[in-house]
Amino acid sequence: MKVWLDGKLVDKNDAKVSVYDHGLLYGDGVFEGIRSYKGRAFELDAHVARLFESAHSIRMAIPWSKADVKRAVNDTLKVNKIADGYIRVVVTRGLDPAKCDRPTMFVITDQISLYPPEWYREGMPVITAATIRNHPNAMPPRIKSLNYLNNILAKIEARDAGVFEAIMLNHEGLVAECTGDNIFIAKDGELLTPPISAGILIGITQRFVMKLAKKMGITVREINLTRHDLYVADECFLTGTAAEVIPVRSVDQRTVGTGKPGPITKKLMAAFHKAIGRK
Ligand code: PMP
Repeated sequence: MKVWLDGKLVDKNDAKVSVYDHGLLYGDGVFEGIRSYKGRAFELDAHVARLFESAHSIRMAIPWSKADVKRAVNDTLKVNKIADGYIRVVVTRGLDPAKCDRPTMFVITDQISLYPPEWYREGMPVITAATIRNHPNAMPPRIKSLNYLNNILAKIEARDAGVFEAIMLNHEGLVAECTGDNIFIAKDGELLTPPISAGILIGITQRFVMKLAKKMGITVREINLTRHDLYVADECFLTGTAAEVIPVRSVDQRTVGTGKPGPITKKLMAAFHKAIGRK
């Protein structure tokens, strides 16, 4: 397996960064997780755009153009012969922001580990975490930064509760997103998802699914949701690069709807599969 590191495809064992790198010391950097389907990086333009926005927001200049980053992703996929897999693009500040060192960039491709198939058929149970999402004025969740400790703490709560994903509320107690996924509910035939102002990562899968829903004539609204809204939803599902579209069967031990993936969720899952060319 090769890793793209600062412009070169190097062997995985030679892909090393310094212990003084600020990505490691302070989580000072940004990243993207991208899926490849049949050898093509899914929504690559959107991921690269988000990477550059994250970097701009933390005042880090990526020393490559968007076209370079896309080429790096495609070259890495190709050399590793990855058809259906996962790509991680990471840009770290380097050694010292005061010295304006050149940021380090690397691209890793690998196989992807997936949630069990029965959760896609039956839905997955989730909880709401006590750990709230980062305050947007402290660490905007729109930045996909290398510091995921906030989400990791919530993920540990999920594990402690015997589930694999946790819903995080924001500083006002409103629903934000999950540790690595965005959240939707269906209520009275409409699809609802928290607004960007709730303090979320603008999910590329979330936006893709919103577009699919609109094309199918389903009303989509970005509105604030409370835990109660989740408990009394007709349907609930999560979206993310790794999870794709995954139904939720319970939230905090409250069965959502019938406890089975509902009609809107199933329609959107089918439309998503069609869009990525899966039967
Ligand atoms: N929220 C968070 C906090 C995430 O880490 C992710 C995964 N990148 C998502 C949402 C889903 O975003 P996307 O669909 O772009 O993968």
